[in-house]
Amino acid sequence: MQRRMLKIKKGDMVQVMSGKDRGKQARVTRIIPQNRTIVLEGLFLTKKHIRPKRQGEKGQMVDVARPIHASKVMLVCSQCAKPVRVGYTGEGKIKVRVCKKCGSAFSP
Ligand SMILES: [Zn+2]
Repeated sequence: MQRRMLKIKKGDMVQVMSGKDRGKQARVTRIIPQNRTIVLEGLFLTKKHIRPKRQGEKGQMVDVARPIHASKVMLVCSQCAKPVRVGYTGEGKIKVRVCKKCGSAFSP
């Protein structure tokens, strides 16, 4: 099976398409291409317990963003102001992601 390239990149604005956060938009802060997951800013947070570093110090609960599968989100086109399908334009190695609705290019 051919490995498909991830259409989502770090810094992209995406909309969540499933789950309890459906409809919410967030920026992509991290991409994990190995398992096609992404981390969104401020969404899908989970509590993580931080152990105290020294004796007498208290442990802490911090919010950590949990990675979600890239198929659960869609890129948001700034021109259309909604989630859109993404196509590619350009030749050879120079490929530009474009909105399939209005044709405007996404940031590389
Ligand atoms: Zn568009």
